Amino acid sequence: MADVFFTDEQKTLKNKYRELVAEHLIPRAREIDEHDRVPKDLLPKLTKEPIRLSALSVPKKFGGLELGQVEVGIIAEEVGYGYPAMIPLMEIAQLYSHVLLLGGTENQQKRFLSQLAEGKIGCYALTDEGPGSDPTRMKSTAKPDGDGFKIYGKKRLITFADLADLYAIFANEVPEKGAKGISAFIIEKGTAGLKLGRHVPYLGLLGHRAYELNLEGIYVSKENRIGGQGDGLKIALSVLSVTRISLSWGYIGLARAALEASIKFAKARQISNQPLSDYQAIRFKLAELATQIDAARMLAYRASVMADKKLVHRKETSMSKLACADVLIKSVDLAARIHAGYAGDKDYPVPVERYLRDAYSWISAQGTPEVQKLIIAREILL
Ligand SMILES: Cc1cc2nc3c(=O)[nH]c(=O)nc-3n(C[C@H](O)[C@H](O)[C@H](O)COP(=O)(O)OP(=O)(O)OC[C@H]3O[C@@H](n4cnc5c(N)ncnc54)[C@H](O)[C@@H]3O)c2cc1C
Repeated sequence: MADVFFTDEQKTLKNKYRELVAEHLIPRAREIDEHDRVPKDLLPKLTKEPIRLSALSVPKKFGGLELGQVEVGIIAEEVGYGYPAMIPLMEIAQLYSHVLLLGGTENQQKRFLSQLAEGKIGCYALTDEGPGSDPTRMKSTAKPDGDGFKIYGKKRLITFADLADLYAIFANEVPEKGAKGISAFIIEKGTAGLKLGRHVPYLGLLGHRAYELNLEGIYVSKENRIGGQGDGLKIALSVLSVTRISLSWGYIGLARAALEASIKFAKARQISNQPLSDYQAIRFKLAELATQIDAARMLAYRASVMADKKLVHRKETSMSKLACADVLIKSVDLAARIHAGYAGDKDYPVPVERYLRDAYSWISAQGTPEVQKLIIAREILL
């Protein structure tokens, strides 16, 4: 589909990542799902060579690939198709990188992004004990202490907090100012007071691991604050406005896998001496879904192009995330209905039951569909 809009370089990139995913990820999917771990030998292949998920958005001058949002999206679709739980590994690198790209000084970018180019893992800790949809109410604080700050609080649902070397953490420096007091900080692994909390056992997206993160008086110097006092929320929301785009492409990857599985099954399954795919009730559903997947991908493509052209794209990003999450749920739902009894069979070669678990575990990441509607409504009802 969107391939018709791709440049030759983008088509080459797509083929390259399709092959990398087929070689390194698809054969390991069942193993990762069963053990809920990224295998030790696979992790460096994902973050370093040959897949380099950590370095996609890191500028070339710091050793990264400096890809645009269309390219990052192309990669996300292939990873989402192969094994979606590895998208969070890619997304945390996107989130962390964009905190620095949008809010950091040249010196901070050099210090903290070049490490990602070497394959280190950066993560993003915004969600607090309160509602993730409303980060203005975060309780984590950054109290002035000598030449820096001491950070106290608790974060939850922090993807790969166990594997991370670097943490972008948001905390309120001036609680009486509310949202305008929130600042962003980079904390390095091993800093005293940074404690890994409960592992959050998930229904799906297994291999992706989320943790609570306890912030027990972490000392951080002023050089590690990204942006000025109170710039944190603005940075966090601007970052999400970019990273939700590649997440949308990731959703399309899994939606495509579910659609392909449904088509294959419907063509092979004989019901009353004719293939299931010959029944109009099924043909129409498949036709609608294929159309909706392509339409949603076009929204993701539009948002990517707008981001790459540095146009304002908040509404377009949320439309993309909303439409792609919606079509993802439709795709796994149809796959479950078409596969019927096989849909819940964990031994069946096509993991429809995993598609269902993954989709429902995933659509709230980086803001629920309702939050995307709030953003779109705010923009169109100006
Ligand atoms: C796979 C995954 C990975 C994640 N990784 C990270 C991470 O690495 N770092 C991080 O900081 N966070 C992470 N999160 C957290 C994520 O950002 C939050 O789950 C999300 O923002 C929703 O917050 P919540 O779960 O607290 O739900 P709530 O905010 O409590 O929402 C509950 C319900 O209320 C609805 N709702 C909320 N506000 C409104 C409103 N104004 N109007 C109508 N309905 C509303 C929501 O849509 C939802 O249906 C991750 C989440 C997932 C699922």
